[in-house]
Amino acid sequence: MRKFGLLLFISSTIACSQPEHKLVELIDQNVEFEKYASSFVDHLWKTFPSWATGEGMHAYDSVLTIYNTAKRAEVRAFIDSNTARLENVNLNGLSSLNQIDYYLIRDYLLKEKFYLDEMKGGQWNPAQYNLGGQFFAVLSYQGHSLEKRLTALNHKLDRVPDYYAFAKKNITKPTLVHTNLAIAQIGGSVSIFDRSIRDSVAKSELTNEIKGEINGKLDAALTAITDYTKWLSDELKPQVEVGERSRDFRLGDSLYDQKFKYNMGSSFSAREIYQKAIERKQELHKKMYEVTARLWPKYFGQTTVPKYKEEAILRMIDTLSYVHAHRDSFITTIRAQIPELVHFINQKELLTLDPDKPLTVRATPEYMRGVAGASISAPGPYDANAETYYNVTPLDHYSEKEVESYLREYNQYLLQILNIHEAIPGHYTQLVYSNKSPSLIKSILGNGAMIEGWAVYTELMMLENGYGNNADELWLMYYKWNLRTVCNTILDYSVHVLGMNEVEAITLLTKQAFQQEAEARGKWNRVQLTSVQLCSYYTGFYEIVNLREEMKRRKGERFDLKEFHEEFLSYGSAPVKYISMLMLE
Ligand code: ZN
Ligand code: ZN
Repeated sequence: MRKFGLLLFISSTIACSQPEHKLVELIDQNVEFEKYASSFVDHLWKTFPSWATGEGMHAYDSVLTIYNTAKRAEVRAFIDSNTARLENVNLNGLSSLNQIDYYLIRDYLLKEKFYLDEMKGGQWNPAQYNLGGQFFAVLSYQGHSLEKRLTALNHKLDRVPDYYAFAKKNITKPTLVHTNLAIAQIGGSVSIFDRSIRDSVAKSELTNEIKGEINGKLDAALTAITDYTKWLSDELKPQVEVGERSRDFRLGDSLYDQKFKYNMGSSFSAREIYQKAIERKQELHKKMYEVTARLWPKYFGQTTVPKYKEEAILRMIDTLSYVHAHRDSFITTIRAQIPELVHFINQKELLTLDPDKPLTVRATPEYMRGVAGASISAPGPYDANAETYYNVTPLDHYSEKEVESYLREYNQYLLQILNIHEAIPGHYTQLVYSNKSPSLIKSILGNGAMIEGWAVYTELMMLENGYGNNADELWLMYYKWNLRTVCNTILDYSVHVLGMNEVEAITLLTKQAFQQEAEARGKWNRVQLTSVQLCSYYTGFYEIVNLREEMKRRKGERFDLKEFHEEFLSYGSAPVKYISMLMLE
């Protein structure tokens, strides 16, 4: 399957009737580049062992990395040597898919350098020093026997005390929110060492001597973690609270712009996307009011439409939210909608769906349940034969009140949009397409804005093509949903760059994005702890719509939506700007 891109390239080269010796030379460049890309991945995992574990590559499970001076020099050498290696690649000799891999590696190296030299999260984010996740990822890997996993952990445990000693030295100017997060999360990590790993040791067939050795190291690790937590809450936090050696959680102009550039891989700047989002918000408000006014007599009879537009829209959304599935029928309702989506897409010829890859809807497994929600769980690059599922969290653990609020949020209309986004033709369909041109680089370094942007784009595209019979009710809910991604972008930029405060943020979300107070509070919490990531949905959406309009403009009557979708998806999870470059060529 890795040869797919290469074969395509040969046939197109032959079509151009290149001289034969030239053809051979070009093929060699692709072969050589693919060899390099594969050695790059080996080098990447050697440099970042816990990332490897997270991707399902378990050769480095026994290594614990401490980002001290020596390690930072190693990372810098990794960046430099690969950057130099890329300079020798002749881009013109590469197939489209290999060109994208080239750009992904190049941009990733620039991003890594930015994190190393400027972001320096290790100095201000105490929550980065949480080992629970990576120890659990080693412990829970089913591909190795329990004894093999514990042997890896036995080695990995050696450096835990040094790891926390380094953390205390390296954190110089933390933010208060990340200090609080570190204190809140550390309990989860304690239970992984003290319970999950210890219980596994007891159950294993290791010798008593080895068991004793691991238990001794677990004691030392727990002492180090407890000491770190105590240091955070008794020494560091009081200093941060009075403003001594503390840092604002807001990234500020310069860091934000760069982080946006490296993480979004967009051809637009953060500021440009922010301005587009402001325009889109106004457009959506206008549309929402028009739809509300049209629907008003149907739901409120003779009563006049409220004078304040926001109030009218809010009342209409509230009324429509009463139509929803029920606790016990939630998953069945979702399951029943999937074939309807498939039928609609086939009938309207929007894109080809692979009939051999039906989607399985299941109740989210216990170990994955956090908050209520829906998600796609797809096999990682090292586990490509595993099944793909649409996980829907059952509502049986929630109180009557929580269930009602959740079901009203995911009412009959919104639930359809959610299914489009998560499943068909959103995330699931994109994934099926990207697996047709498998590339380790694309799956490891894939672009989040393209992936989210595609899912958000399909919501609009389905409605534009008449899904749901153009019902005003569905459109209104769609606008509200789209407004959420738009306001996420506005919020993120406003808070991190323009200095927006909590009161202003809550007002934006409740009054202008029509969100419930609880949802708005959660979002305020998230925007303090993360940055840029909230922009990925709207950024990718905006770029895809833009590309489509440009293609329409260029092709005129020859433009074909199905062809556009299929070509767009054939490049894998690449930044929209590179897909655009290749499609507009
Ligand atoms: Zn109800
Ligand atoms: Zn998504």
